[in-house]
Amino acid sequence: MNQMLKPLPAPDSDSKPFWDGCRNHKLMLQRCADCGRFRFPPHRFCHECKSERSEWLEASGTGEVFSWIVVVHPVPREVYAGEVPYVVALIDLDEGVRMASNVVDCDPHAIEAGMRVKVFFRPARDDIVLPLFRPANA
Ligand code: ZN
Repeated sequence: MNQMLKPLPAPDSDSKPFWDGCRNHKLMLQRCADCGRFRFPPHRFCHECKSERSEWLEASGTGEVFSWIVVVHPVPREVYAGEVPYVVALIDLDEGVRMASNVVDCDPHAIEAGMRVKVFFRPARDDIVLPLFRPANA
């Protein structure tokens, strides 16, 4: 049987602390240990000061919608047909980094730029928990 499955993240050595955090329902962000700038996605060195020193901190989990699309024609159709319409958004976290995710639990056509959102976590597989966002006032 050729069953199509949703693509899921494949944690690597840089992103493992992020995905470990998600499993514990914590949004963890990497921060430069020298200049204090948050990095996302995780990276071996800081794009600001080139330092390779970093630490992991739990983020506030809040931010605002920077941009978004409402998916109505899913690809591949066999996998996502039951989920449309859904929202793929760029979220500007309060820590100053931008993250792609879904905004759920609201009318997709009611989303606005600057809308406040808050993270929550949804298991996708035994070892993968995804960070999703919903309106902060929900
Ligand atoms: Zn730095």
